[in-house]
Amino acid sequence: MIQFVNVTKTYGELKALDNVSFEIVAGEMVFLVGLSGAGKSTILRLLYREEKPTSGQVFVSNVDVSRLPNNQTPLLRRRMGVVFQDFKLLPSKTCFENIAYPLFAIGMDHMDIKKKVNVALKVVGLTNKTNDFPKALSGGEQQRIGIARAIVQGPALLVADEPTGNLDPATSMEIFQLLERINQRGTTVLVATHNQQMVDQMRKRVIGINQGRITSDVKIGTYIPQL
Ligand code: ADP
Repeated sequence: MIQFVNVTKTYGELKALDNVSFEIVAGEMVFLVGLSGAGKSTILRLLYREEKPTSGQVFVSNVDVSRLPNNQTPLLRRRMGVVFQDFKLLPSKTCFENIAYPLFAIGMDHMDIKKKVNVALKVVGLTNKTNDFPKALSGGEQQRIGIARAIVQGPALLVADEPTGNLDPATSMEIFQLLERINQRGTTVLVATHNQQMVDQMRKRVIGINQGRITSDVKIGTYIPQL
């Protein structure tokens, strides 16, 4: 599903990623952990093609996304849902409209949009919030709507960048469990996080990164501070 092959990403003098290689197969749920500035977000941004590597290759479903022409990136985003720490919901749109947004963007028929949005709302357990605006929701609920938007097109891959960074521990656990349920429905899930307690409880594969290099990769791992 994901393959990084000798990927280096530099910003001027700084090596954000230094010869990084790893593979994630379809169906896995993986945590990417490391201190702030370790390179976690850079890995995710290369995946959804917000950035291009300085050298090396990044494959998603056997497509080298670093060589993907710009006009094909919307196609990539359709196959990959992205969840952000700050939710990135549109404040002037209702929950329904926020989730429907990517479907409107591709010109989907209104009835199909309604069906898909309702399925996504059911998965995240917020069918009662359809017509609410984001500001009426708690942080945890807003993140659930962010997740619903990310999965509404049925992506093969879901990536989340510090999805619980703004949430309390109990809400964070609910979000991690929701991501696990989405994984169990067949979506590959990659989560970059600082959340040591959650990672330790989830018993999933953990990839550790420090100063742009992979320092550990454990099948059923715990969060090891990369000092
Ligand atoms: P993490 O997500 O683990 O906190 P990042 O991937 O955001 O780490 O950053 C890795 C390194 O790359 C950091 O030193 C950061 O300052 C640097 N960096 C990230 N993005 C940029 C950018 N657009 N310009 C310059 N430096 C950047």
